[in-house]
Amino acid sequence: MLQPVAVGHKTLADYASIVGRTLVEEIRELAEPLRGKRILHLSATAFGGGVSEILYTMVPLMKDVGLDVEWHVIYGREEFFNATKVMHNALQGNPQDLTEDQWESWRRYNEMNARELSRGWDVAIAHDPQPAAMHTLAPEKARHWIWRCHIDLSTPNPQTIERLLPYIQTYPDSVFHMQQYVPPGMEGRIHIVPPAIDPLAPKNMAFSPEDSVYIAEQFGIDVDRPLLCQVSRFDPWKDPLGVIDAYRIVKESVPDVQLALVGSMATDDPEGWDFFNATVAHANGDPDIHILNNFNNVGAIEVNAFQSHADVLIQKSTREGFGLTVSEAIWKARPFIGGDVGGIPLQVHDGVTGYLVSSVEECAARAQAILQDPGLGRRLGLAGKEHIRKHFLMPRLLRDWLRIMSDLKG
Ligand code: UDP
Repeated sequence: MLQPVAVGHKTLADYASIVGRTLVEEIRELAEPLRGKRILHLSATAFGGGVSEILYTMVPLMKDVGLDVEWHVIYGREEFFNATKVMHNALQGNPQDLTEDQWESWRRYNEMNARELSRGWDVAIAHDPQPAAMHTLAPEKARHWIWRCHIDLSTPNPQTIERLLPYIQTYPDSVFHMQQYVPPGMEGRIHIVPPAIDPLAPKNMAFSPEDSVYIAEQFGIDVDRPLLCQVSRFDPWKDPLGVIDAYRIVKESVPDVQLALVGSMATDDPEGWDFFNATVAHANGDPDIHILNNFNNVGAIEVNAFQSHADVLIQKSTREGFGLTVSEAIWKARPFIGGDVGGIPLQVHDGVTGYLVSSVEECAARAQAILQDPGLGRRLGLAGKEHIRKHFLMPRLLRDWLRIMSDLKG
């Protein structure tokens, strides 16, 4: 029922030249007393989205420093995932709550998984709301329980958070990206730890300019003309329509500019496809707007190539839990413009490591300024990359997890 996920092998030592020896040594010291501890990560999926992105690196690195770690994906069928999708949106502010049947289904699948869960874990970490009831339903299966929240709970649908709260508030420890995401009523210890990216994953590893040009060209990009690019799911909160509007303003003064909107799609997400189609309609056949998704063979390497090649990277979200795509973009040392919301300001110091914007017009003005002054773009890009190197790479996140585990009570 619960599926163990096979993760590859990663070595912390490989990261030393990027994040520095001091951090790597601190990690080794913290890990020593935790050697052999049995750690379980529980999540809803091993494919797509920020949580799996992080676990594919975090789990191998935790193993590499001596912990005995497994990652299990909970069992669920369509009705469960329909319910958790509604829950996810409602918790981030959508007015639609789950129906009684959907709440029932969420609880029933949690009960099934809780029954199946094996015993003897030192620490079980439940990621996001999908498996959040597991602690209440089977507390005896692990010595310590931690709830890791990856979403923005600052303005949830009141009915939804009220129903969920009894299941999450009793976790002895919980971890949030930002203080403002912690819902009132949490009873245990709260840890504030933002996520991080893997600089050595195919999506983020260093490409030569020739490599990215070669790949971008295969997708119809004219590599001799300026390119704006946003990578994100096709979702209204990511505002791809606003990005198209900003591109049109830029085009008035930079006629040869192009735009690439790159996003991954799930086959089972009809809303995503509706919004994808709305984005295509908004582009209105403009040959300089390239709308690409994983069904056109765009995977991690291609995302890397687009980001490494683009002249301006954009994440014009109007709502954003953290935005891994922001750190991924800035890590390519390209100038970045992002919406001034959620976790984006953590990753961008306005005017120094990129720009924060709150409207289409502002986004367009910043993009124009960067395109007209390549020196400005270079300065922002390099300062941005340095900020990400210090704060948003995976070894820092590993250290924060080890600190939390070292301090668990009992
Ligand atoms: N992603 C991807 N291909 C795409 C779009 C997104 O691989 O076409 C990845 C992206 O690189 C990031 C994750 O999916 O690692 C999305 O995480 P983020 O926090 O940016 O946003 P979310 O989708 O979780 O709201």
